Amino acid sequence: MTTTKLFNLPFMLRLLNFPFNRMNAGKWTTKQKAAHNSVRKPIGDVYLVGSGPGDAELLTLKAYRLIQETDVVLYDWLVSPEIVNMIPKHVERVFVGKKCGRHSMTQQEICERMSEFALQGKNVVRLKGGDPSIFGRAAEEVEHLQKLNIDFAIVPGITAASGCGAWSGIPLTHRECAHSVRFITAHFKSEDIESDWQNYADSSDTLVFYMGLNKVEHIAQQLISHGKSSETPMAIIDQGTTAEHKTYVSDLKSIGNVLNSENIVGPALIVVGDAINYRANVNVDLLTQSKQQQVA
Ligand code: SAH
Repeated sequence: MTTTKLFNLPFMLRLLNFPFNRMNAGKWTTKQKAAHNSVRKPIGDVYLVGSGPGDAELLTLKAYRLIQETDVVLYDWLVSPEIVNMIPKHVERVFVGKKCGRHSMTQQEICERMSEFALQGKNVVRLKGGDPSIFGRAAEEVEHLQKLNIDFAIVPGITAASGCGAWSGIPLTHRECAHSVRFITAHFKSEDIESDWQNYADSSDTLVFYMGLNKVEHIAQQLISHGKSSETPMAIIDQGTTAEHKTYVSDLKSIGNVLNSENIVGPALIVVGDAINYRANVNVDLLTQSKQQQVA
């Protein structure tokens, strides 16, 4: 009886799984810790991380920690230089320069670079402007990693619409006039795809167009010709949340004048809807200077 119990297989297996290493928890010598930390996983992990829209302080604490701990950062053009400068010197930086219509690397090449590093055992931060899941091709990169069985996680970032709304004092929703907000791409994979203009024109939602700077007049014309009032407010927010942040407010019929008179550099966001009428006069200096600087 005793013998059978002693060699009870499930019991023996449980014994093998016992976390003997934890018995010494907190008692490791520095040498042991260094040895433990230097053990590389055969395959690195990948983090798809949002950097926010521009202002470096809009980076999340989690994003900051991951950037400090990783082996490689792959970043694109929307990541602000201040954030790129936060990457420690020993961490490899790879600029993958994805700019709408001007890709220095194809999406496939970016995916391959990312997975090559991970398969070499390196941890990778794939740093993207704004939020990786909003017009950030996160799904395509995740699909690639999944096929290769590479572990990954996604860290959200503040999307351009939230950052631009806050810095401009434009509410994205309003109980009086905008019960929802839509994030719309003005740039499609193929020219055969057309926006659902009728649907947008009929809606009272706030419409936020990403990648729309070279289509501002087209957007305004389409909305008017599908029945939206030509006096509906339209805003262009240029280089939102950066030191060069500018907000231009007009309406659908006159937005062309803004384009003609102003030097809009981009990236820019196009916002349409009555919520713009509730624009508040935000003092952005309060956000960019610390209290100590304000006093001095
Ligand atoms: N993932 C990003 C969007 C990528 S698409 C996000 O969540 O914000 C790129 C488009 O985002 C640009 O063409 C522009 O329309 C918008 N955009 C990004 N950063 C911006 C900024 N700082 N100011 C205004 N628009 C911005």
